[in-house]
Amino acid sequence: MKEQEGVLEQIKAKIESGDMDCVKNDLKGQFEKIIGMRNEAIGYIEASLDLKELDNIKVRFLGKKSMLVGMLKQTGKLDAKDRPMFGSMVNEARAVIETAIQEKIAALKAIVSERSVKRETLDITLPGKRISRGKLHPMETVLSDLKEIFRGMGYTVVDGPEIEKTEYVFDMLNTAEGHPARDEGDTFYINDETVLRTQTSSVQIRTMLKKKPPIAVISPGAVYRFDEVDATHSPVFHQCEALVVDKNITFGDLKGTLETFIKRLYGEEVRLRFRPHHFPYTEPSAEVDLSCFKCGGDGCAFCKGEGWIEMLGCGIVHPQVLANCGIDPKVYSGFAFGVGLERITMMRYEIDDMRLLYENDARFLNQF
Ligand SMILES: [Zn+2]
Repeated sequence: MKEQEGVLEQIKAKIESGDMDCVKNDLKGQFEKIIGMRNEAIGYIEASLDLKELDNIKVRFLGKKSMLVGMLKQTGKLDAKDRPMFGSMVNEARAVIETAIQEKIAALKAIVSERSVKRETLDITLPGKRISRGKLHPMETVLSDLKEIFRGMGYTVVDGPEIEKTEYVFDMLNTAEGHPARDEGDTFYINDETVLRTQTSSVQIRTMLKKKPPIAVISPGAVYRFDEVDATHSPVFHQCEALVVDKNITFGDLKGTLETFIKRLYGEEVRLRFRPHHFPYTEPSAEVDLSCFKCGGDGCAFCKGEGWIEMLGCGIVHPQVLANCGIDPKVYSGFAFGVGLERITMMRYEIDDMRLLYENDARFLNQF
């Protein structure tokens, strides 16, 4: 820019020092106008803050309607010998303004790009966003272990409806009219023939009606009973029942199966105790206690000093139940047992309140 200023400044200096040999009087005013206009343009360019403003400045000082272009058009009216000097004055002013604009454009672009680099810079020292991972509900974990254990022993997992015929929930399971289990105080009736199933044993009936022996199934699922919610009760809870029907199935098979299942679930050191019991759909029937996981049978707070924990009900399928499903009890026999999934889960993880399993509080669930 300095070099381009050269000619103008030299002439201007000569004009100011009174050396008018090179400049005619009528040109003197023109030269001063050019210099003034050039300085004004430079001032605007330097003060401009964005490219749009620069564009306006360019149009104003170098555009078709600008003073510079207007002056160039006047060149023809000058004396022939004055024209080169006048032309070079105008061209030089134009070049100076153009260069100043280009430099300013470059400077503004540099600022913009510096800003965007700053804005887009990654701060690798910032702590990352933690993505919390979901976990399986403890009952889901227990259920999948259970399925794994039984599938390993050749069982199939079967399912059935939760809204069920009283025929399958009660009648065919030897629970006749008038039996206390059918009481409306215990069971959710939808109508006289339909209930929310009180046990998953109805799936055993469905299975035996569809399939001939050999049968080996487990049927996990939700069941419903008229219970108040407290630490050990809920109107909806979950059971898993097992049913085996084949020739020569004995109580020994039931015991062996339960031993295997319980030890796989809780460990080899757990002992089982069978107590006689009564269920309408099995004969003989038993309840099974496990030696306390905490004290091993000596008695502690966890087992309320008993040394044993009540765990499940089981028995040999009643011959009438087999006959109800069209299976000849003289040829076939079977065993069945049912466990509460909540109970197994609570024992395994030492959870003392069943409600925790349903509340789905993430602080609770994250512990498993
Ligand atoms: Zn104990």
